[in-house]
Amino acid sequence: MKGQVAALVGPETVELKEFDVPDPEPGAVVLEVTRANVCGSDVHIYHYESPLLRNSVLGHEFVGRVHALGAGVTTDYAGEPVELGDRVVAVYFLACRRCAGCLKGEFSLCRNSLRLWARRPEEAPHFYGAFATHYYVDPEQYFYKVPDALSDETVAGANCGLAQMLFALDRIDLRSGENIVIQGAGGLGLYAAAVARDRGARVFVVDAVPERLELARAFGAHDVIDMREHTTPLDRAKRVQELTGSDGADVVLEVTGVAAAFPESVELAGIGGRIASVGNINVGPAHEVALTPGLITRKNLTVRGFLRYDPWYLHKAIEFLARVHEDYPFGRLTDRDYSLAEITEAIQRGAARQVARAGVVPNA
Ligand SMILES: [Zn+2]
Ligand SMILES: [Zn+2]
Repeated sequence: MKGQVAALVGPETVELKEFDVPDPEPGAVVLEVTRANVCGSDVHIYHYESPLLRNSVLGHEFVGRVHALGAGVTTDYAGEPVELGDRVVAVYFLACRRCAGCLKGEFSLCRNSLRLWARRPEEAPHFYGAFATHYYVDPEQYFYKVPDALSDETVAGANCGLAQMLFALDRIDLRSGENIVIQGAGGLGLYAAAVARDRGARVFVVDAVPERLELARAFGAHDVIDMREHTTPLDRAKRVQELTGSDGADVVLEVTGVAAAFPESVELAGIGGRIASVGNINVGPAHEVALTPGLITRKNLTVRGFLRYDPWYLHKAIEFLARVHEDYPFGRLTDRDYSLAEITEAIQRGAARQVARAGVVPNA
């Protein structure tokens, strides 16, 4: 049986390649991809902004159906029985349990996390990206069964956006009654709004796109700050002070991917505030900004970056969705669906930042 992958072969150049769908080795699982999303990271990778992922298969946010189980696989990583045809989600990176990060028990700091995804598609078992008909779950990769009540649309973003937000907001210690300002109402920002609201925080979201601001309210924001109305960082900091009735936010979450948002995080945070920096992942001269470090000192700020999550947070993401999927419009995170042949169009649609996510249905 043959399957297809969308391989990145050059900057902004994608080619569909065909390979034999492999049989899983002991401990591995082969999935048929039922739905994938275009995440902001896929857009960066497409533009060759990731040094590691330049000749790999694109795509990492997805849900799939079990096509073949390797010898010995009878349950997922939560001990739930799995059978052929079950829907599962998989963590898109590895925790090798052998590197300096894993040695400290910090699986999100694994130095080898992208070891499999970075492979060239010509290398067997080929299917290490989600913009493909099939996906190969390595024996060391965490995966979890999806309850029937959750649609593919609802769970497709669980293994990146949602798990990442649950992890970041835990690590930044967002507590009930605190004020959080979320910079950016893309997929990450909307998930974060729902998680923060669910925790009993007062939630404010900053963005410039009217449809996204409206979605932010639907995902639990108590109020929004429209950048077309509050046009400078200082205007927005003043608005945050009015909304919080304080000298700034307890927690600021940056999920824009725009470098200028970081010095603004420092402006928006109140004294003793905590900043979670997640959206900015690019480095180099094009991504440098001016910053006043004295503000961090004077305000006694805590600044933390988060890239990836502890793999079991994907299980928390599924439990969260099972509990709240009727409270927030998760189906509205994507607009129209794209086939594998339309992958370039889907990525460009994702890059336009008008909708949160473009959806990819490889086996339609
Ligand atoms: Zn992602
Ligand atoms: Zn490791």
